Amino acid sequence: MEKIILIRYGEIGLKGLNKHYFIDVLIRNIKDSLKSLKNKKIEKIQGRFIIRLAEEDIHRACEALKKVFGIASISVASVVEKDLENIKEVAEILTEKECRGDETTFKVNARRGDKNFPMTSPELNGYLGGHLLKTFPNLKVDVHEPQFTLFVEIREKAYLYTEIIPGKNGLPVGTGGKAALLISGGIDSPVAGYMIAQRGVELMGVHFHSYPYTSERAKDKVVKLMEKVAAYSGRIKLFVVPFTDIQLAIGEFCEEKYSTLIMRRYMMKIASELAVKNGALALITGESIGQVASQTLESLAVTNAATDLPVFRPVIGMDKHAIIDIANEIDTFETSILPYEDCCTIFVPKHPQTKPKLEYVLKEESKLKDIDEMISEAIDNTEIITIYPK
Ligand code: ATP
Ligand code: MG
Repeated sequence: MEKIILIRYGEIGLKGLNKHYFIDVLIRNIKDSLKSLKNKKIEKIQGRFIIRLAEEDIHRACEALKKVFGIASISVASVVEKDLENIKEVAEILTEKECRGDETTFKVNARRGDKNFPMTSPELNGYLGGHLLKTFPNLKVDVHEPQFTLFVEIREKAYLYTEIIPGKNGLPVGTGGKAALLISGGIDSPVAGYMIAQRGVELMGVHFHSYPYTSERAKDKVVKLMEKVAAYSGRIKLFVVPFTDIQLAIGEFCEEKYSTLIMRRYMMKIASELAVKNGALALITGESIGQVASQTLESLAVTNAATDLPVFRPVIGMDKHAIIDIANEIDTFETSILPYEDCCTIFVPKHPQTKPKLEYVLKEESKLKDIDEMISEAIDNTEIITIYPK
């Protein structure tokens, strides 16, 4: 008896003429996610994929596959030749594992994909159910709320399994273009990146750091966060932009109450330039209305005016606790709350302007005489780190 992983894909099954493209990208992403595992083979069968690999790797493979967007569900199935003796034998082995305590309820859910198989699906349900009831005296049938279901699929072989593990759904990353995620060390931006990747968008990361005001450890934290996001989005190129000189100049020349906002606008400008150079079509931020002074509607409008690219803010209407729930789900929360300084928290004005007007902000920015050179220099000195899933 061989054990395989059965993968069902969700929404992409509906993608009409593009279906083959979506499927090919999903297969590529599945292979990437299993890169560290040896000797795996992936095969397409009617609306599913089958993965063959060493039995000891199955658990690790399932953990990785649970994070691949585009997968609807996963089952670890036992495969045998499709004759009744073999099927009965495997059914017994799987049932034995599920039986616990005095009484266990179950049902059989057979599906005959191969019309040449001599029994229909209901006949097979009855036959196998009857056989198992005889073999295991503690079993009882409950077709509505069974404790376990024995699934039997008759195709070119017989596939038997008792568990359907939910996948992440969404669309395969790479089918939806590329966007640049402005990633801080905080809670919100990794969640924002994850949410957009879920719709098939490839990510690049842009992080601004202000060495020596922010430490190497703060940068490492961002790398760690990106590795966690990459477990879902696949490999990410992270651009680490030296931002100290620009921040110091803002501090020196611009009115203090606008400093955070002006800093945010230069982040948007630089991120847009890096995005365009690297084929990304939009920016992503973790902004959420009202969270801080720079996220009032007025401030967001002024920030937005710094770029021509669409800016996606998937957590814009979410409460912090709902964002934290997702951060926990994707395992970024514990890293995000590590106490290393972020460049936004260093030069914070005492009384930030919460209802800024663009014309005043532009006037303040005009005091930065060398800003174009400073932007070019920051971009020229940007460090590029390739982030692999962890
Ligand atoms: P987060 O939890 O994502 O840090 P926040 O609530 O702390 O968000 P801000 O610090 O105002 O909010 O930042 C708003 C958004 O600006 C962040 O979600 C992120 O997209 C971007 N951002 C902030 N700081 C940086 C940085 N150092 N590098 C890159 N992007 C940043
Ligand atoms: Mg922050």
